[in-house]
Amino acid sequence: MKNEKGSLMRPDALPASASRPVVTPLSPSVVYASDTPDMLDQQYEGGLQGYTYSREGHPNADVVAGRLDRMEGAPHPGVMTSSGMAAVSAVLLGLTSTGDHVIGGNQLYGRSLRMMSEDLPRLGVSTSMVDPGDIGAMRAAIRPETRMILVEVVSNPTLRVADIRALAALARETGVLLVVDNTFTTPRAFRPFEHGADVVLHSVTKLLAGHSDVMLGYVTARDEALNDRLRVFTVTAGMSPSPFDCWLAERGMLSFELRYDRAEATAAILADHLSGLKGVTRVLYPGRADHPDRALLDDLMQGRFCNMVSFEIDGGRAQANAFTRAADGLSFAPTLGDVGTTISHPASSSHRALTSAARHALGMSEGFFRISVGLEDPEALCGVFTGAVAAAMAV
Ligand SMILES: *Cc1c(COP(=O)(O)O)cnc(C)c1O
Repeated sequence: MKNEKGSLMRPDALPASASRPVVTPLSPSVVYASDTPDMLDQQYEGGLQGYTYSREGHPNADVVAGRLDRMEGAPHPGVMTSSGMAAVSAVLLGLTSTGDHVIGGNQLYGRSLRMMSEDLPRLGVSTSMVDPGDIGAMRAAIRPETRMILVEVVSNPTLRVADIRALAALARETGVLLVVDNTFTTPRAFRPFEHGADVVLHSVTKLLAGHSDVMLGYVTARDEALNDRLRVFTVTAGMSPSPFDCWLAERGMLSFELRYDRAEATAAILADHLSGLKGVTRVLYPGRADHPDRALLDDLMQGRFCNMVSFEIDGGRAQANAFTRAADGLSFAPTLGDVGTTISHPASSSHRALTSAARHALGMSEGFFRISVGLEDPEALCGVFTGAVAAAMAV
C-alpha cells in the first residue's frame, strides 16, 4: 500500500481485517492524533474516550490495570506505574501534605522504609515505624495528624503476618487510611479490599509479571476521589509505565495463577525438607503448623500461603558463602517472584545497613537466608538444598 502523501510522516492505516488479533497489540505511540480541537475538548472533558499522550495513559497500561482491578476487586480503574516504588511514592507523596504523619510497618521493603525515614521528613511529613503485628503499639502511634498506615501483609524476610482486619478496624475508627502493599501475597492469596484496606499497591515486577524482565507497579484506592488523585499525581510526576513493559507484564500474567500455585506448593515441600536437614536451625514458612501466626494466617489467607521460605543454617559468614557457592543452578540475587528460585541473604543485602545487634534482634543472623521458590522440579530443588547445606556444614 503506497502512502498517497508519500513525503508526509503520518503512518499508513493498518490493513483492514475482519478477524481480530488474539494477543493485545503493542502500542508504543506516545502521541495520539485527534481530528479537531472540538474533539480534543471532548476527550479532555470525558465526553469522548480517547488517548492523547502516553504519559497520561495508553492502551497497554489500561489492559493490564483492568486485569489487576478484577483480581483485586478494585472498585475503580487502578493506575499502572513505572515501578513498585513509583506506586509506593505516589501514595506517600501524592496523598500527604506538610504537617501530616505517616505510620509504616517496621519491616517494610527497604526502599519504602528509606522513603519514610529520609524523604518524607525532609518534606515536613513525620513518620513512625511500628510492628504491624502489635495493634496496641499501632494505636499508641496514631496522632491527630496521622494520615495513613502503610503495611505489607507478610513481612520480609521474617514472614510474620500483619492482622490486616484489626488494622482496618483501627484505621476506620481513627479516620486514617490503611494502605496495603500486597506484593508478597498477591490477590491469589489475599485480597486487601475484602478486609477493609483503603489503598492497595503492588510491585508488578515480582510474582505478577514473574519473569524478571519487567519493572512495573500498580496502585488503586477504594475511594474514587483518592483514586483520581493517585492517577493525576503519577501523570504529573512522570511515573507512567512504558507500553512495552505493560505488554510484557500482561503476557506474564496470563500464567500467573499457575505459576503461583506451583511455586507455593513447592515452597511447602522445600520448607518441610529443610526442617529435616542437619545444620538447619530454623525454618519459617506461613504454611507450616509451627508458624507463630498460625491462627491469623488461617483466618486471613484461608489455605493460601506464599512462595517465600526463610531459614537459618548453623554458622557465620563462611558457612553462608559456602552455601550460596554450592547452591548450583539457583540465582543468589536480591529479588523474588521469578520463574527460577532465587536466594537472598538479608545480612549482606536488604538489611546490611542495620548493626549486627539490630539484625540479631530481628532474627537475621549471618546464616539466615530468604528463598523465593520458583518453578523447578521440587525433588531436584530439594536435592540442591541438601547439597548446599551439607557443603556449608563441611566448612
Ligand atoms: C520489590 C518490592 C517493592 C518495589 O518494587 P519495584 O518494582 O522493585 O520498584 C515494593 N514492595 C515490595 C514488598 C517489594 O518486594
